[in-house]
Formats: sequence, structure tokens, C-alpha cells
Amino acid sequence: MFYRFTVGTRATEELVDITDKVSHFVRESLVQNGMCVIYTPHTTAAVTINENADPSVRRDILKGLDALNLSKVRFEHGEGNSPAHIKSSLIGCSETVIIRDGRLALGTWQGIFLCEFDGPRTREVSLTIMG
Ligand code: ZN
Repeated sequence: MFYRFTVGTRATEELVDITDKVSHFVRESLVQNGMCVIYTPHTTAAVTINENADPSVRRDILKGLDALNLSKVRFEHGEGNSPAHIKSSLIGCSETVIIRDGRLALGTWQGIFLCEFDGPRTREVSLTIMG
């Protein structure tokens, strides 16, 4: 099954929790045991799995990436958003999560995030759910 939804980001950089949306489509798919690929088709955004209990963790992920000091580098790309392109490649544009008993088999503290690095924009997220 293939699904697609959009996420409106509100800041230049932020991690948006999309766990509930992905879970919704997993339920709709009726797949009991299988896997879900979460993919974003952008070059300045990414998808990651990390802690969703303490919101400071997602801010710290952004702070950690900023510690790379990419804005200090004289890049060639004329658009001026090379730091966003690099962060997108470092984090990656997809994740795969196991589906067990009709649910995402995430750990207690895990959530799925769309990572915005060049917002605000409307971002697309695609799901392929296989059972
Ligand atoms: Zn660019």
C-alpha cells in the first residue's frame, strides 16, 4: 500500500513529530505483520527516529548539527542553502519501521520526525506499507 501526506513546517529548522500520522495509515492498511518505509522526497529535509518524550531532544539534535558550523564554509551552490542540503544527507530521507500486531514496533521513547532544514515549506511524506 502506498500513502502520501503533507506537513506544513513553520520554522527554518524544526523536527515535526509525524508518528500519529504514520500510525494512522498503518492502521488503515490493515497490515498485521510487515514493514513501513517512511520517505520524504526533498533535498533539504529528512526523516529520523528519536526520542519524542522530552522536546529538548529534538532541539538538541538541531543544536548538535549546528555545531558542525556549516554556515562558516564558503560553499559553491548558488542557492545559499548548502548547510540544509548537507544536513538532509547526514540524517537521510527515509526510515523503515517494523509492523507487529498491526502497530508500529517503536520503542517506548521513539517517535518519527520529519526534519526541516530550509523552511518554512510544505513537505511531502510518502509511506510504503508491506505485509
Ligand atoms: Zn539548494
